[in-house]
Amino acid sequence: MRLSDAKTGEKVAVVKILGHGAFRKRMMEMGFVRGREITVLLHAPLMDPIKYSIMDYEVSLRRSEAELVEVKPLPVDECDRTRKHTDTVDCDDRPLELSNNADHEKNVINVALIGNPNCGKTSLFNIASGAREHVGNYSGVTVDAKSGHFRFKGYRINLVDLPGTYSLASYSPEELYVRRYLKDETPDVIVNVLDGSNLERNLYLTTELIDMDRSMVIALNMYDELKEKGITLEFDTLGKMIGVPIVPTTARTGEGIDTLFDTVIKVYEGTCEDVRHIHVHLGQELEKSVTALKDQIKADGYIGRHFSPRYLAIKLLEGDKEVEHLIAESPEASGIIALRDAEVRRLAEVNGNDDIAALIAGEKYGFIAGALAETLEKVEQEKVTSTHVIDAIVTNKLFGFPLFFLIMFVIFWATFSLGSYPMEWIEAGVEWIGDLVRGAMPDGMLKDLIADGIIGGVGGVIVFLPNILILYACISFMEDSGYMARAAFIMDKLMHRIGLHGKSFIPLIMGFGCTVPSIMASRSIESSSSRFITILINPFISCSARLPLYVLLIGTFFPSHAALVFTGVYLVGILVAIFTARLLRRFYFKTDVTPFVMELPPYRVPTLKTTMRHMWAKGEQYLRKMGGIILVGSIIVWALNYFPLHDDAPEASSAEMTATADDSSIDLDHDSYLEMLGKAVNPVMEPIGFHWKGTVAAIAGVPAKEIVVSTLGVLYTGQEEIDDYSLGARLTAPNPATGRPDFTAAAALSFMIFILLYCPCIATVTAIVKETGNIGYGVFSVVYNTVIAWIISFIVYQLAILF
Ligand code: GDP
Ligand code: MG
Repeated sequence: MRLSDAKTGEKVAVVKILGHGAFRKRMMEMGFVRGREITVLLHAPLMDPIKYSIMDYEVSLRRSEAELVEVKPLPVDECDRTRKHTDTVDCDDRPLELSNNADHEKNVINVALIGNPNCGKTSLFNIASGAREHVGNYSGVTVDAKSGHFRFKGYRINLVDLPGTYSLASYSPEELYVRRYLKDETPDVIVNVLDGSNLERNLYLTTELIDMDRSMVIALNMYDELKEKGITLEFDTLGKMIGVPIVPTTARTGEGIDTLFDTVIKVYEGTCEDVRHIHVHLGQELEKSVTALKDQIKADGYIGRHFSPRYLAIKLLEGDKEVEHLIAESPEASGIIALRDAEVRRLAEVNGNDDIAALIAGEKYGFIAGALAETLEKVEQEKVTSTHVIDAIVTNKLFGFPLFFLIMFVIFWATFSLGSYPMEWIEAGVEWIGDLVRGAMPDGMLKDLIADGIIGGVGGVIVFLPNILILYACISFMEDSGYMARAAFIMDKLMHRIGLHGKSFIPLIMGFGCTVPSIMASRSIESSSSRFITILINPFISCSARLPLYVLLIGTFFPSHAALVFTGVYLVGILVAIFTARLLRRFYFKTDVTPFVMELPPYRVPTLKTTMRHMWAKGEQYLRKMGGIILVGSIIVWALNYFPLHDDAPEASSAEMTATADDSSIDLDHDSYLEMLGKAVNPVMEPIGFHWKGTVAAIAGVPAKEIVVSTLGVLYTGQEEIDDYSLGARLTAPNPATGRPDFTAAAALSFMIFILLYCPCIATVTAIVKETGNIGYGVFSVVYNTVIAWIISFIVYQLAILF
């Protein structure tokens, strides 16, 4: 009987909890475990909620929840004994003999067979239950459910043969039937029967069942045919990847059926190690919508009982009418539907496609393709599609890597070379505005602030906007086209070498854009240790905020080998990331071998519109940063450089100095605050080739790394004797105090490496703390990265001055 049927004052014991995984878990956490005694305290017919006493405290359940708790009435005299017995039972899902008088009938497992038409469900049903149902080799023979039962290892197994369906949508009567069955009857274990010779299509239904989060076993049927065709499938690995145990069966001969039901019992008892709830990832944009809807559905608390909120959210996005009816029972229905409509509009906008169901299906087939690419080996390619052809080249053992590095090189080349043209125009524009201000304003502090502080600082950074836009356009093209997933795929083996998974590769590539979103993208990595390592090494992947500095210094010091040095700097970051990952795996996080599916979405030609939109979104962010933190940073740096005011202006004083004057000791009478700070810290930085101005720029760059360049812009300004206004020219001009330029090629190299590696920006540290939930990781990043940066810059500088 169900708990909802128990009368007031009645004592019952829990037999099992039905419903989906998350619901069962929550109920078990509340104490509803097998054998636990429950007393009905208050139960008026039709009254909701119902009050129960469990373990001497009171809980109230809604009727819909109580309906999902199977219980056994307790005779009054048995209560005390059961209580003693159950006191030792903790969150334990093992079957419990409620009494000794052979209470086998309580050890019932309801099993439903679900699968595509013609995959062998009825054959399996017959051979297991011994029934003589009609078996036919065409779909549609099974028009409604047939049930049978048999005994197996002390259990009574109730087996139901459901009609074949390709999905759990609500278009065909079969689909509707299966879904209503899942909702109303809530079988304990689902056996998802797959036609082994047609896995790709069969697994689609599996992805929907995974969304439902039910206890499940896969029968890999027609295993004889699969072997005959020369196909090998690592079903064990596949099962671990998708978190559902897979048992090969041949229903025609009965092979594998015993193992299948052994596994069913293990899953029922909760002792199967392969069982894990995974998410079939739907890509960034869809996931955003699913999460928003899921949260709203969860908040309601009523509708998410029979089906998992994630499943309901996905079905709502697909426009499923049945699920809409289900949602309509909730008082929050209108809000949920409104949110759904808004999300559908948003998705149509970002994807340029309003067929959300097709988008979801595409992502699911990408998941399947990824899962099979790692586990399935076919002799012959049965269908040649353009995706297959491209994949054959792109993921080829021989060409895959060179192609990837070529693509990365082209991206860096484009960022640097193509970007340099519009950069020159903006530079000319900034110069023109600077001259205009200098000419038009009367001398004084305000003029200095605007010309040197604001135009020098912000103007020095804004010129790199084109480079950043090009980089972002390339990254978003890689993501949207589906190439990024392939890159992750070919990197999987390498990533395993450093104790990570191919999945970590995507956030790392995204890190070339901005570290903050890429740390958030690490959420899609299921294993927590892999996720933490990915997060911690991400700051070493050079983000676009460091780009201006590279463009500036490489353009100034290495113009003839630009792309090479560029790639080299990025490579140093990648090598340090690899080193750190290995270090963390070795000494901190223990290895983790759980396999995960890497989605291989179909290739799509990204529309110009979406690429442009992504690019502009980033451009806008960059400009906003200019007006915000970089503007403020520039003004602070300018002020620290301007004050305290001395009798003579700083420029004049330095011009007065002789060429032999010491430029490194603090001079309280002439130095600005910034100079004092830089000179005080500089002894630490001298071994790595820093002039105090570089030290100051590095310190100023902690809030945001663009400020490094804007600080240089503020510090290297106001030398009117230099005609060329570009920052590069000002950097190479000899320092009037020493007669030598502050930056040499070796110092520039060391400086770039230091800025690349040292303490991440504030936004990144915040993201690290937030995503790991641990301040310690933020502190680690700051300290470890700075120390590593110093060491590597030291090596680079000392080697560079040798040549
Ligand atoms: P259902 O539509 O899922 O109920 O599938 P049926 O049980 O009606 O089986 C469809 C066809 O596949 C029948 O001709 C069966 O004999 C055949 N079949 C079922 N299981 C197997 C198997 O494991 N191997 C092979 N070779 N054929 C099978
Ligand atoms: Mg059938």
